[in-house]
Amino acid sequence: MKTLKIAIQKSGRLNEKSVELLKNCGLNFDNYKSSLISPVSNFPLEILFLRDDDIPEYVQDGIADLGIVGENIIEETEVEVSYLQRLGFGKCSLKIAVPNNNDIQSLQELNGRSIATTYPVILGKFLQKQNIQADIRTISGSVEISPGLGLSDAICDLVSTGGTLKSNGLKPFADVMSSEAILISSKGSENSELVQELIQRVQSVLRAKETKYVVLNVHRDNLQGIVDLLPGVKSPSVVSLVEENWVAVHTVIPERDFWDRISQLKQAGAQGIVVMPIEKIIL
Ligand code: ATP
Ligand code: ZN
Repeated sequence: MKTLKIAIQKSGRLNEKSVELLKNCGLNFDNYKSSLISPVSNFPLEILFLRDDDIPEYVQDGIADLGIVGENIIEETEVEVSYLQRLGFGKCSLKIAVPNNNDIQSLQELNGRSIATTYPVILGKFLQKQNIQADIRTISGSVEISPGLGLSDAICDLVSTGGTLKSNGLKPFADVMSSEAILISSKGSENSELVQELIQRVQSVLRAKETKYVVLNVHRDNLQGIVDLLPGVKSPSVVSLVEENWVAVHTVIPERDFWDRISQLKQAGAQGIVVMPIEKIIL
């Protein structure tokens, strides 16, 4: 059987989460920082550790079958690849920012101004859509210092918390795109059995992350009220307790409405609520 290759970032913001995801998929490999390639011992797969900028092209050209990379890099390199799965980490947005003391009010006021960025392709398309003629200055890094140095009127850069903008006297002005890490494959290879197997493993890990396993005790008189609050994967399991008329309810609930549910369950008579992480959910 052909050995697949997956390209992930060698070091940087996506490295740790990419490695964690693959390990949670049950893949066994050494995370050698010094090597470019690491074989997986229990799946026909090799991990390539690369600079994130190189990943989309490696995948497009089939040198790697799969890759994990930020949507921003995929869009900027304009490659033809298949999007397999959004991964929920590496979230950030590409924003235009202007100096705090700047009184630009509307996007149209960017006409004739200069904007420094490492994302000229994405910014160019955005400005064209908005019908704005600005001077895009492509630079390779430290974009945020360019207005202070008088190199540009504005910048277009990735922002997650906004701390870097703030410390450089800049304020966010317009959203250009939002991004997260994505699992991609070269066109056509998503149909292979091995790739499908990997996608399913990734999805079961992501699903598990979004849910918690909950066990609680309740008096039979209050059972229906509790069951009504719990959608579960199918329906909750109910197990009799030694104490007469008491049962234990086992189920999974979505992480996002976790705290709401817990307080509703308590009000409905739940006791001894135990919440546990789930490793995988295979449907
Ligand atoms: P490399 O050495 O691999 O080229 P890099 O320095 O270009 O790394 P990182 O800063 O590690 O890249 O960012 C990798 C990706 O992380 C980005 O392309 C983006 O998708 C995502 N990301 C999430 N939050 C941020 C942020 N605040 N700033 C920059 N990138 C972010
Ligand atoms: Zn990079």
